[in-house]
Amino acid sequence: MAVRKGTSRYYTPEHDAFRKTLRRFVEKEITPYVSDWEDAGRFPRELYRKAADLGLLAMGFPEAVGGTPVDGFYQLILTEELCRCGSGGIVAGLMSHGIGAPPIATLGSPALQHEVLPRIFSGESISALAISEPGGGSDVASLRTTAVRDGENYIVNGEKTFITSGMRADYLTTAVRTGGEGMGGVSLLLIPGDSPGLSKTELKKMGWWCSDTATLHFDDCRVPARYLLGPENAGCMGIMQNFNNERLFIAVMAWAFAKLCFDEALAWAKDRTTFGKPLIRHQVIRHKLVDMQTAIQGARATLEDLTWRVDQGEWPVAEVCMMKNRATQCMELCAKEAVQILGGLGYMQGSISERVYRETKVLSIGGGAEEIMKELAARQSGWLA
Ligand SMILES: Cc1cc2nc3c(=O)[nH]c(=O)nc-3n(C[C@H](O)[C@H](O)[C@H](O)COP(=O)(O)OP(=O)(O)OC[C@H]3O[C@@H](n4cnc5c(N)ncnc54)[C@H](O)[C@@H]3O)c2cc1C
Repeated sequence: MAVRKGTSRYYTPEHDAFRKTLRRFVEKEITPYVSDWEDAGRFPRELYRKAADLGLLAMGFPEAVGGTPVDGFYQLILTEELCRCGSGGIVAGLMSHGIGAPPIATLGSPALQHEVLPRIFSGESISALAISEPGGGSDVASLRTTAVRDGENYIVNGEKTFITSGMRADYLTTAVRTGGEGMGGVSLLLIPGDSPGLSKTELKKMGWWCSDTATLHFDDCRVPARYLLGPENAGCMGIMQNFNNERLFIAVMAWAFAKLCFDEALAWAKDRTTFGKPLIRHQVIRHKLVDMQTAIQGARATLEDLTWRVDQGEWPVAEVCMMKNRATQCMELCAKEAVQILGGLGYMQGSISERVYRETKVLSIGGGAEEIMKELAARQSGWLA
């Protein structure tokens, strides 16, 4: 491995420069507006274009499809720095193409890639991933939305729910049943957001207020057959590969938000005086801060190690599952303790920790819930063989 001369053994000066540019972008274009966008339940579509102008939406995709290939540390920095705005809703919504577009880039026909990906990378079109259904999200192999071939089209019937960017997505990468039972009968189909027979219901939620979340209803929805991603009934691999990346992305988000809570709590603990001395002079409070920092540092070390291993070509499914749980547990601890250290202020809107506290659960449920991650980690470790 080449010697790296950036801020740690994993980061080059180019990584550090990218971080600086991104930090300025987030401070100027996102952070000042977060509270307004959260209250409005929406961030402007224009933000996709601004992010695209900086090249953020093409990052990590192959050059052959118009993307900008980068190593995993650029992607880690991208997520970490976006999270500094303090709203998971913005990060999840702005980056929903991160789970929606990879199957197009790897499985779509060249003509389809050419038609769709430049629009997503330029911020003109929004991409989303639709796997979960009202009948269940964890048990993907039992999904019931069907797509039946009819000449040059598929006819889609069923429902998807909890879909991030579902209301305004122009392209929905959708898991559908084209064959028999189980994962062997599942395909991925790209469904345009304005397809006839597709209707949408907006959902209200505990956190992530400014991301749109929708239930999608397919009622004899007609989709051109050329929008199929990969061969029929071979959607399993695309879905699984996507999950691995999504789980690493969620882990970075959770760790980054944990850090924000720590920073806010530390600043408050130094500033706030009770019983004649700053909070941090009370042992109980500084020990809470140490517990938070212990979890944060542990998460950072394993995240960077995993990122490096994935860059070397490994696909460590069990470790990624455990990483997601470790990071989300770290976020839950840090949000809980930060709100406690902030006292009543931590319960008030306007503090970062209040918002992050409301956003903890979505990360330990979405992209594979904590219980499912443990089960997958156990199975992938070969303990049941
Ligand atoms: C804000 C938000 C955004 C989302 N965005 C998307 C999106 O963009 N695209 C998408 O496809 N999905 C999305 N999801 C859905 C998410 O992936 C699912 O909620 C998740 O996979 C869990 O599925 P479920 O809600 O149906 O819970 P269920 O599968 O019904 O499970 C309920 C609970 O039971 C536990 N459980 C289930 N089976 C077992 C078992 N065998 N053993 C032990 N415990 C078990 C689960 O861990 C969970 O805690 C989003 C969810 C939220 C909340």
